[in-house]
Amino acid sequence: MSKQEIPSFEEARHIILNSVTKLGAERVELLEALGRVLAEDVVAPWNLPRFDNSAMDGYAVRAEDCVAGRALPVIDSVSAGGRAAKAVTPGTAIKIMTGAPVPNGCDSVVPIEHVKAIERRITATESVVLGQHIRLAGEDVREGETILAAGRLVRPYEINMLASCGREHVEVVRRPRVAIVVTGDELIELGQTPGPEQIVDSNAYSLYAAIKELGAVPVMIGIARDNLASHREKLKEGLKADVLITSAGVSVGEYDLVREVLAEMGVKIVFWRVKVKPGKSMAFGMKEGKPVFALPGNPVSSMLTFAEFAAPALLKLMGHREMVRPLFPAVLQSDLRKKKGQTALVRVKLECIQGRYTAWSAGKQDTGLVRTMMEANAVAVLPADRESFAAGEEVQVHLLGGAL
Ligand code: AMP
Ligand code: MG
Repeated sequence: MSKQEIPSFEEARHIILNSVTKLGAERVELLEALGRVLAEDVVAPWNLPRFDNSAMDGYAVRAEDCVAGRALPVIDSVSAGGRAAKAVTPGTAIKIMTGAPVPNGCDSVVPIEHVKAIERRITATESVVLGQHIRLAGEDVREGETILAAGRLVRPYEINMLASCGREHVEVVRRPRVAIVVTGDELIELGQTPGPEQIVDSNAYSLYAAIKELGAVPVMIGIARDNLASHREKLKEGLKADVLITSAGVSVGEYDLVREVLAEMGVKIVFWRVKVKPGKSMAFGMKEGKPVFALPGNPVSSMLTFAEFAAPALLKLMGHREMVRPLFPAVLQSDLRKKKGQTALVRVKLECIQGRYTAWSAGKQDTGLVRTMMEANAVAVLPADRESFAAGEEVQVHLLGGAL
């Protein structure tokens, strides 16, 4: 792409994702692996189940002995974590608890609900199928098998498997440290009282939260004032992290210094501006393999450009295979208009009504209005080549982060 060319929404994301690669690995304690991506193949050190064991509380028997009316003496008992002292010999039963190793000699377990017990003798009241209620060693996982491959996302289910395999530590992809630099003379720090022309820096906080929610490590650098010296100081500090994200000062205003100072510091500006609203003025650059996102200052623009462009890149750095939120159709509930030639990201409220998603506009779409962002739970991605959308038609939407 030539220098002047402004990428489309899709092209911009494509360029970003092609520019970043997975970080290296680190060894962490098992629970630290939650939400992260495995960087090693995990081989099962033993069978799972570890040994043949009972799936029910009941009696270990030989199926052929369980004929109608035949009472079997109960000669022993075995609980989970224990071991029977005796074997099941023909015509006998051993009481067994769920998870206990099955005694030698038995081939089936009769659940307690399916026996009549009188004076330490049991009679099966239901037919017994050979092998029933015995969990066989290795039927879940075989010793030596690769049970989890590198690249797999670790959820609570993978945590269970890793713990079952005795893994106290695992190798996962490292998380990027993501520096946040906000710019503007109008900004004050949270905790100070704003003067009549000042506002509290809120973008640093929403960016911090969004980075943390993704599983990356946010690093607050602070406020760069609208002069070269302050920009140089903060951006230099920010470039020490794995990723730099800036807010504001990237448009065409007199004090929009971010691009200039980034370039001065050796950041190659890959593109500036994208055919998307909000997000028109964002820039993306690279310095020695390190991505830099210069996001717009309006709070909604900064939050949405983070979600659409920075978040997928952070996920890729962390080794995730799914990086972009999937689009799915929803029925528009009101007419919408947009400018031709740019993608529109419209904050919508999605509801599932009788198995169909419907999308309401979450309110006025100005990029300074954070309330609309809070009302929304999804974004409608309206294609660049169209201008108007009618109530009743299907549009493509994706969910916003957070719990459903
Ligand atoms: P700019 O891109 O510098 O022209 O900023 C665009 C708009 O975003 C202005 O109204 C700024 O006051 C606002 N803005 C910039 N930075 C922040 C921030 N950190 N928190 C909240 N609003 C901001
Ligand atoms: Mg500014």
